[in-house]
Amino acid sequence: MQAIQKICKEEKLWFHVDGCIGALIAIAPKNQHLVAGIEEADSIALDPHKWLHVPFEAGCAIVRDAEAHRGAFAMHSEYLEEKPRGIAAAGYLHEYNLQTSRGFRALKIWLMLKEHGVAKFGRLIDQNISQGEYLRGLVENEPDLTLIAPSRINIVCFQYTPRPMSEEQQCALNTEIMLRLQEDGIAAMSDTTIAGKHCLRVAICNHRTTCKDLDLLVRETLRVGADVISESATTT
Ligand SMILES: *Cc1c(COP(=O)(O)O)cnc(C)c1O
Repeated sequence: MQAIQKICKEEKLWFHVDGCIGALIAIAPKNQHLVAGIEEADSIALDPHKWLHVPFEAGCAIVRDAEAHRGAFAMHSEYLEEKPRGIAAAGYLHEYNLQTSRGFRALKIWLMLKEHGVAKFGRLIDQNISQGEYLRGLVENEPDLTLIAPSRINIVCFQYTPRPMSEEQQCALNTEIMLRLQEDGIAAMSDTTIAGKHCLRVAICNHRTTCKDLDLLVRETLRVGADVISESATTT
């Protein structure tokens, strides 16, 4: 981000950070160096409903230059005229985005921060990142699993690869593993494709997750993977 910020400054470009998951690493004492440069952003998107554990939904965008922000949206039709006094004098929230009427999402975020304090959420983010490291270790030590991306945070992408097979078979096998683990209530992994490689994607952002859960995830991935393979062997 420091390198991108430098280019933005030289080329007079807006430096926006899509930090929906990652921006909150800035409050995690052991890992905040991973997002160095984010403090230079012109704007940041972040999702308190992800790593701040706020109940769904509470998305957030913050913009450094309030005047530029307001200038992009402010518009006053006859039915939305500001008055120097009275209830319409406080400055309209709709001058900062497309919405006029809106729910009071800020309350639940504010209350959680008051109740628990920022430091606790920072510690939980560090905890999830070290669990990501733990899971990567498990994957690397398991011959039938292959790590797909060199992530350093709470997101771990890997494939079940018990033997050489085509990309297509690989994708079908791993998708089936993911769906069975979801349907059996064992784990809620998602999947994604990185540089053309389909893979299972684990994003650890729950404060209740323990390393034992990750041991179980790996064990069950291997068990279900072997089941799927033996079933396809008997049907073909
Ligand atoms: C989650 C996410 C979004 C948007 O998600 P919302 O839940 O709709 O706010 C955008 N970018 C990234 C990187 C995300 O993780």
